[in-house]
Amino acid sequence: MTDTVNRTMVVAGGGIGGLSAALGLANIGCRVTVLEQAAQFGEIGAGIQIGPNAFHAFDYLGVGDAARAKAVYIDKLIMMDGLTGDLIAEMPVDAPFRTRFGNPYAVVHRADLHGVLLDACRARDAITLVNNQRVVAYENTASGALVRTETGDTFAGDAVIGADGVRSKIREQLTGGDALRLSGHVAYRAVLPIEQMPEDLRWNAATLWAGPKCHMVHYPLQGWKTFNLVATFQTDVSEVGTNEPGTREEVLGRFGAIVPKARKLLEKPTEWRRWVLGDREPIENWTDGNVTLLGDAAHPTHQYFAQGACMALEDSVCLADKLRRCEGDLGAAFHAYQEERIVRAYRVVLSSRMLGKLYHAEGVERKIRNAVMGAKSPDDFYNGLQWLYGGTGLSAA
Ligand SMILES: Cc1cc2nc3c(=O)[nH]c(=O)nc-3n(C[C@H](O)[C@H](O)[C@H](O)COP(=O)(O)OP(=O)(O)OC[C@H]3O[C@@H](n4cnc5c(N)ncnc54)[C@H](O)[C@@H]3O)c2cc1C
Repeated sequence: MTDTVNRTMVVAGGGIGGLSAALGLANIGCRVTVLEQAAQFGEIGAGIQIGPNAFHAFDYLGVGDAARAKAVYIDKLIMMDGLTGDLIAEMPVDAPFRTRFGNPYAVVHRADLHGVLLDACRARDAITLVNNQRVVAYENTASGALVRTETGDTFAGDAVIGADGVRSKIREQLTGGDALRLSGHVAYRAVLPIEQMPEDLRWNAATLWAGPKCHMVHYPLQGWKTFNLVATFQTDVSEVGTNEPGTREEVLGRFGAIVPKARKLLEKPTEWRRWVLGDREPIENWTDGNVTLLGDAAHPTHQYFAQGACMALEDSVCLADKLRRCEGDLGAAFHAYQEERIVRAYRVVLSSRMLGKLYHAEGVERKIRNAVMGAKSPDDFYNGLQWLYGGTGLSAA
């Protein structure tokens, strides 16, 4: 096994997946070029929940303390019945949780989390960050692989990592264009200044209000200066959309059945952004020669498990680890990487679909959900999540 993998890598996409991959690869000796389509490297203005497994990944990448410094440490995850306003279940994420899993469960502003990775990448001579480069295609070559961008430029290396998100161009070419799977769910996002958050809802928790065909989530952010708000509902949309403007009237109309205590929160934001959500069916191969996929490009998921970004971070850990163990043999490393990641990442994708149904349950299903969830002890929850939070999924082999 070697600690220095003398390889040049081209990463398509500079999100949490692409930057963490670059960092992991630079840590083992690679030179990495990250190509980002946007004019600047950045993230949207919203919150994200981060499980202990993501902090394990940050630790592996050498930026655990910086990531922990940006987080808000909530006390618990709460599920409320939006129809009655009653508590359904809660899972403490306080000291015993942290001791058991070796890291906290936290909520963070996305820009802060992305910024931790960006700062670390900028501090590395081995990493080159390039903006305004939209990747349109890749090619395996005699000496490695290259990508072409919209500007007509090419960037070549020993290998290409497609970390270009849910609408990945690399995946499109690699699979021949597998379809996005529309969930019919739309998520509205807003960030509220703390003064606008109703005092009776300023809980130090990630709170989920479950309603018929809808649910909403809120939690504190940025040292309690703001609250993150996500309102999701089922509808008959025909196209996936990202970060579009949304209207207050549409949100309020979909949450008519929710108790006033929670519904009043939806009247507060002056600006909503909306995402029409989709994922893709699992595939058994992420690799074509010297090209492989990572993050949402490989396993786009619904947000209900709050694990999409956590999985992208874990992918980066696994990719670097396999390359190091395989002493830079790309074929062997990419094979080992995808074999290890496919089961774990798609378990999250399929579990997220099930959670979407659970959150939106109606009638008898709602009663069963409340009874089953309400009967769980903290240890029941922890035992059920051991596979996920107990590590990064990295095998010793
Ligand atoms: C409403 C909602 C809530 C969520 N909440 C959570 C949560 O609480 N916890 C969690 O872990 N996950 C959550 N997720 C999932 C998480 O946001 C994603 O899984 C994560 O951002 C994936 O990271 P990525 O880097 O793979 O892709 P992306 O974040 O999509 O980044 C891809 C990057 O590539 C760039 N790009 C795209 N195409 C090209 C191209 N052709 N050429 C060059 N650059 C390109 C993009 O501009 C972007 O910068 C949530 C998602 C949604 C929609």
